[in-house]
Amino acid sequence: TFRAVLISRDEDKNQSVEMTELTMDDLMEGDVDIRVEASTINYKDGLAITGKSPIVRRWPMIPGIDLAGEVIESRNAEWKPGDKVVLNGWGLSETHYGGYSERARVKGEWLVKLPDTFSVKEAMAIGTAGYTAMLSVLALEDAGSKPEDGPVIVSGATGGVGSVAVSVLSKLGWNVIAVTGRSSESQYLKDLGATEIMDREELSEKGKPLEKERWAAGVDCAGSHTLVNMLAGTKRHGSVAACGLAQGFDLPATVMPFILRGVSLHGIDSVMAPKPRREQAWQRLSSDLDKAKLTEIASEVSFDQVIETAKSLIDGKVRGRVVVDI
Ligand code: NAP
Repeated sequence: TFRAVLISRDEDKNQSVEMTELTMDDLMEGDVDIRVEASTINYKDGLAITGKSPIVRRWPMIPGIDLAGEVIESRNAEWKPGDKVVLNGWGLSETHYGGYSERARVKGEWLVKLPDTFSVKEAMAIGTAGYTAMLSVLALEDAGSKPEDGPVIVSGATGGVGSVAVSVLSKLGWNVIAVTGRSSESQYLKDLGATEIMDREELSEKGKPLEKERWAAGVDCAGSHTLVNMLAGTKRHGSVAACGLAQGFDLPATVMPFILRGVSLHGIDSVMAPKPRREQAWQRLSSDLDKAKLTEIASEVSFDQVIETAKSLIDGKVRGRVVVDI
């Protein structure tokens, strides 16, 4: 047997979550068995564990959208026992058992080789949040945005996506405006490379369709008015990557930034991103994320602490990234 976190639902659809013991026969279909060594806690994991948003679509469910570990058995030609692997998304914790489990059985095509530059724990310190931050950076680059064009703005800056985005963008030469609701974390953000700190409230209310042009690009973790105001303040031909909904999933916007300034909005989907894009993102994390900053961003909890920590993350009490030692 092995230990796993399991979310269940009773007849009245009340959700409960507990640490339980399972056997290999309890696992879902897949062609690669993995000994999970580490996982992590993302915003989405907090939503699944608290039941605050409908993430889980099959019951019961093992949560955890990320895992890293070692292949112990493989019926897939691409993988063999001993291979170190990382998995982000692909419906884990939604329709397929996730990473808060000492063992996992998944489809080999979902796996990415652990980059030589990272340990399993470092890969989980990055996790979906960090890999999403890199997907956002790639989207801005594809749109032609460059550090010479002006500053880049990042919302939810002390969160997981935000912290990695601030670090990577600053290493790539951008002046980074970090938007946060936690002014007490200004020094943390400056240490990650932010050049300016902006109070979250400056962007959180309804603003004008077009504002003064203040930044050339943006990475948004908040959605709602924050994203709309980010678009309204973007310079001509700038670009914004939308990756989150920490403020809300609404988008109360006008088309003005698009049709009068040629601003572009890029959607980021980490869950179903195709494998080549994932490999590109992990490659770029190897070269463009400073490991010293990753240490600064990440903390570690034991497997037993995962449920309580996921709840604190949703209460906005967690800074940066949390690695779970499975
Ligand atoms: P996280 O660590 O909890 O960070 C979220 C951050 O958002 C918080 O730390 C906070 O930063 C900020 N925030 C909280 N409430 C807010 C509000 N009302 N208005 C504005 N900002 C607020 O979560 P994460 O894992 O980094 O994820 C960030 C967002 O990206 C989430 O919405 C998540 O669902 C989404 N996401 C999407 C994808 C994708 O594939 N598109 C992948 C990963 C994550 P401050 O305290 O610094 O303000």
